[in-house]
Amino acid sequence: MSTLPVTRTTCPYCGVGCGLIVTADEAGTFSVRGDESHPANFGRICSKGAALGETLSLDGRLLTPEIEGRPCDWASALDLVATRFSEVIAQHGPEAVAFYVSGQLLTEDYYVANKLMKGFIGSGNIDTNSRLCMSSSVAGHKRAFGADTVPCSYTDLEQADLITLVGSNTAWCHPVLFQRIRDEKKRRPQMRVVVIDPRRTATCDIADLHLPLKPGSDIALFNGLLAHLKQAQAFDDAFIEAHTSGLSEALQAAQHDQSPQQSTALAAEALACFYDWFTTTERAITIYSQGVNQWAFGTDKVNAIINCHLATGRIGKAGAGPFSLTGQPNAMGGREVGGLANQLAAHMDFAPEDVARVARFWQAPTIATRPGLKAAQMFEAIHSGKIKALWIMATNPAVSMPDANRIRSALKACDFLVVSDCVRNTDTTQFADILLPATAWGEKEGMVTNSERRLSRQRPFLPPPGSAKPDWWIINQVAQRMGYGAHFDYQNPYQIFIEHAQLSGYENRGQRDFDISALSHLTEASYNTLEPIQWPAPEHGGESAIPLFSEGRFYHADGRARFIATQQQQPARLCDTQYPLVLNSGRIRDQWHTMTRTGKTPRLTTHIAEPFVQIHPTDAQQYQLVEGALAEVVSDFGRLLGRVHIDPDQQPGSLFAPIHWSEQFARHAAVGAVVNPLFDPVSGQPGFKHTPVSIRRFEPLQHLFILSREAIQLPNADYQVRIPARGHIRYELALTEPIDLQAYANNLFENRGEWLVYRDDTRSIFRAVHLQNSRLNLCLFSAATHQLPERSWLAGCFGDEPINTEDRSALLAARPGPNRPNAGPTLCSCFNVGYQTILDAISEQSLISVEQISAALKAGSNCGSCIPEIRKLLSTVRHAL
Ligand code: SF4
Repeated sequence: MSTLPVTRTTCPYCGVGCGLIVTADEAGTFSVRGDESHPANFGRICSKGAALGETLSLDGRLLTPEIEGRPCDWASALDLVATRFSEVIAQHGPEAVAFYVSGQLLTEDYYVANKLMKGFIGSGNIDTNSRLCMSSSVAGHKRAFGADTVPCSYTDLEQADLITLVGSNTAWCHPVLFQRIRDEKKRRPQMRVVVIDPRRTATCDIADLHLPLKPGSDIALFNGLLAHLKQAQAFDDAFIEAHTSGLSEALQAAQHDQSPQQSTALAAEALACFYDWFTTTERAITIYSQGVNQWAFGTDKVNAIINCHLATGRIGKAGAGPFSLTGQPNAMGGREVGGLANQLAAHMDFAPEDVARVARFWQAPTIATRPGLKAAQMFEAIHSGKIKALWIMATNPAVSMPDANRIRSALKACDFLVVSDCVRNTDTTQFADILLPATAWGEKEGMVTNSERRLSRQRPFLPPPGSAKPDWWIINQVAQRMGYGAHFDYQNPYQIFIEHAQLSGYENRGQRDFDISALSHLTEASYNTLEPIQWPAPEHGGESAIPLFSEGRFYHADGRARFIATQQQQPARLCDTQYPLVLNSGRIRDQWHTMTRTGKTPRLTTHIAEPFVQIHPTDAQQYQLVEGALAEVVSDFGRLLGRVHIDPDQQPGSLFAPIHWSEQFARHAAVGAVVNPLFDPVSGQPGFKHTPVSIRRFEPLQHLFILSREAIQLPNADYQVRIPARGHIRYELALTEPIDLQAYANNLFENRGEWLVYRDDTRSIFRAVHLQNSRLNLCLFSAATHQLPERSWLAGCFGDEPINTEDRSALLAARPGPNRPNAGPTLCSCFNVGYQTILDAISEQSLISVEQISAALKAGSNCGSCIPEIRKLLSTVRHAL
């Protein structure tokens, strides 16, 4: 019996950085499971990782270089990029060009992009989309520790007695870490979990305490904690004395706010309970994510948290410390190489001695001597004419940046725009003068670093399709054509990684935290088989000091950590009568970024199929919004349309909308178009979590859904969503100018096949089903209101089998006949188990626990990402009884 090919690699989605095992079968398809030996996940996996094997098709891939939309050969495209960049530099100087790169790049890609821009073009103008997700953490670390050091490891989660999750829906955004915490809580129920978040999210499923603070009031909360720790005599005076500076200023600032309870709008008992738990628990870890970082004062939030750990000496010890979770798979790798415009390379900045050192190492006489423009400044510089040529790599700023319409106009106005990506059509590629096809996950080869500083290999198991090339190769080729060939003659990612490792140890002598020089001696074979390893890994360091800071030595010149004085701030833009609500944004369970990959698999599009706006029942009543209808959210910058989702877990006065939808999947649903362009003055990170907005009913005259076996021409619709599904495509539409649906339907198939039609003009109902050779081809259901039939049973009829007589007669009712199963919308993506199936099982089999439901239906028994929703469903049923 032959053995099937197996590849050990790393997940390309979130910063947990799970190890995966990819197995090819004889049919050429790939299955993906968690790698039991990888220290990030020990075999665990989430719904997104588990579905990776279904995202590998070449549909939508960019496979050939293009100039002005016309396919061309590589040499022509690369010559043109190099020539135009060189011309702009010759005419306007190196500051007139820029790279905007991505946490999706591998470390080796990132390294050569940074080396080209900062080392040889001589400009600091390279910034990464990680600016949008964790640059406030970077800035906070540097202010406190003197370096961008994440002090914790995932094993700390299993050693902590108190885990506080701040602004982090870990259950959905870092699901495998959530599984690790949940498993540990099961093992040690006395371990406490606190969730600090304005919303009651799925993460609260394991919380002993949820603090639904007023949005943005985290500084008041942690300043209050610092003052409380002082009062309770819980400071570690010996640690403070020996290893820190700046406490009195920070404490004075913290004590300035006399009433954290009032500032946070939290119940006094709840706040006191958290303060007491933190005060009395030595092994306390504070995890934070975008809810902390994505504010116009995110860096101060980070430091307010770190201050409490420094004051108690709870850092550098097992189970204790402040722990920032990164969003992207290689955000940390980007930080290592200097992917942010204000870093140089290998955790060195633009201090003259750092610049001189890197110049020596790279032999780069024209090295940049000052930071470049941060992401938002870069796009503004296009508007002002300062930047004339921009190269965007593996990211989609037309969707993901705040005030995204202004970003689009910058892209349009840019004299010369290059985009390298693996996807042909994104909202950004449409503006490109040159498109360069890059390899995708499964084809790429290199290194990524996860949130706990662990380097893991991404390994290829597929050949590059078409003319696609690795990002490092593309950058190399341009560098050579620009005349820097001697410095960019890498033959493979191994050679680049070795240079990166050498630079980390170059003249380091323990003065810089990032040191992986021990890896600079890897042979190509040992690089290829490298097991996941955490940094630091210094050449002469023997066992590296983990936990970091265990010796109390930090990276400021005096070796001390610094307290930073922080004060609660008001957002620069406040709600008013025109914009009375606050818009918050974030991720959903089964989607990733702008859906270019996760949007390809029906398994992941069924959980939440459409863009939505979550709103508290009180606000919904005030604005006369009903569940499932459409709403329009408006700010000074743009508008978005989404389904109303009324949820008491949302705070009154606040809305939540997901970040994932772009024009490729939905019209008017990109949240970035609405978000205000306000930035943290220290980190440059945008404040995605707070935009004053208004909301109103969106009242089209015709609502319809279409399920179609093939892609079809759609009528013009204000609200339009495309949802890839099993065996068909689902379209959701809302029209402000009604059309003749009968005529529209007739045009689709030109007398082929057979139509079943039901219409009731008095109620504006039109339903049409098209069959060909007894197979379902298309369903079109329309009404004057949003209350159309549920889609899931019809969706299940798009198999290859002919429709039987019983189902045929039920098609226009959109529900099966009596005693026929109807699963309802998907809840468990791993096993495709629907809400209705679970509800039926609860009632028919008297199931009362998640475990019983998992045993009966398998739902929740694989990745477990849906367990919070199953528990919520159980509780709803219990309340209804
Ligand atoms: Fe990938 Fe999920 Fe692991 Fe994140 S938690 S790395 S998305 S498998």
